[in-house]
Amino acid sequence: MTATGNSGARCPVCDTAELRPFYAQAGVPTHVGILWPSRQEAVDCPRGDLDLGYCPECAFVYNTGFDASLNAYGHSYDNALHFSAVFQSYERDLARRLIDTYDVRDADVVEIGSGSGHFLGLICDLGENRGMGFDPSYDAEHAEPLPERVRVVNEYFSREHVDTKADLVICRHVLEHVDDPAGMLRSLREGIGDRPDTVLYLEVPNGLLALRRLSIGDLIYEHVSYFLASSLRTAVESAGFEILDLRESYDGQFLSVEARPTSVPARPSPARPAPEVLADIQAFADRARERVTAWTELLERLAAAEEPVVAWGAGAKAVGFFNVLEVTTAVDRVVDVNPRKQGTYLAGTGQAVVAPDALVSDPPGTVLVMNPYYATEIGQTLIDLGVDANVQTV
Ligand SMILES: [Zn+2]
Repeated sequence: MTATGNSGARCPVCDTAELRPFYAQAGVPTHVGILWPSRQEAVDCPRGDLDLGYCPECAFVYNTGFDASLNAYGHSYDNALHFSAVFQSYERDLARRLIDTYDVRDADVVEIGSGSGHFLGLICDLGENRGMGFDPSYDAEHAEPLPERVRVVNEYFSREHVDTKADLVICRHVLEHVDDPAGMLRSLREGIGDRPDTVLYLEVPNGLLALRRLSIGDLIYEHVSYFLASSLRTAVESAGFEILDLRESYDGQFLSVEARPTSVPARPSPARPAPEVLADIQAFADRARERVTAWTELLERLAAAEEPVVAWGAGAKAVGFFNVLEVTTAVDRVVDVNPRKQGTYLAGTGQAVVAPDALVSDPPGTVLVMNPYYATEIGQTLIDLGVDANVQTV
């Protein structure tokens, strides 16, 4: 976890400064969302390097060690969160808010990176809209059935996806995965062309929260970028959009932007972060190292006391967390409510993914909750199962 080379790359968002390296971690799994069928395959998964640099002008954070050739999305990619009741109500509220704010009714909605089409289906159901989704990991054969007015096509983004009529263009949790997010936004803007009433809704993880909360599990290879409000604003405005709303959502874990096309400014100046934001980024590596040490010591104490430990939530955070701590057998099970994940193994460190019921016959002493947002929901599930365990949020 020492900062290494790679200085000198220009900020791909504001293009006014060079990225400064601040955090590195070698050999992390390239795909946290792949479900591996055996422990050995999970441990032998493809790996790449994190070499994070930040821009001193707009605070964009970028993995200069990212190699796009290692990061194609296949059918086994699974980032669906919608099995959680908390996430379901978040999505429902978001769909209703977009429909009401922009009168998205009997309208054409395009979603870039629509996954299984779940959210697109929701916004089309609630607003009686027509939906067209694009996602390279879409698997029509195994996907849940979509409403009649919604179609999803298995394709990577291209500007042609938005050059037909679209009243609302949605792009959630995509921008942080592409190696040229500013270029993708420019393509979106070009595709929308001369249709000033089109509304763009963008959503990304809140990079500042990950850096401030020291959510070490949030630093993953698939996230080439970490957006803060300043860099997201810079990227969206310089692509030729006027920002109507920029907010933190989902308990501060996401950043979202609502925008409309405008004429592209010739040379926009970057939106600047507060000085304490840059200080947080610079302090991150040292503070993260302390956090890793504290977690390692806690897990060693629990192991010495022969207390069984499980994790809850077999998503990106668990893969990031276990890989930075290099935990393998000390925690060998991760609970997940998504039935498609159960029976598979976590990339890199090989924990078995089990259903909540599995805790009844083999109860843990401690449950590590990977996302604090779900702590209440998980605590209630444990009570319902009759499992009496300590709950620790990560
Ligand atoms: Zn910048």
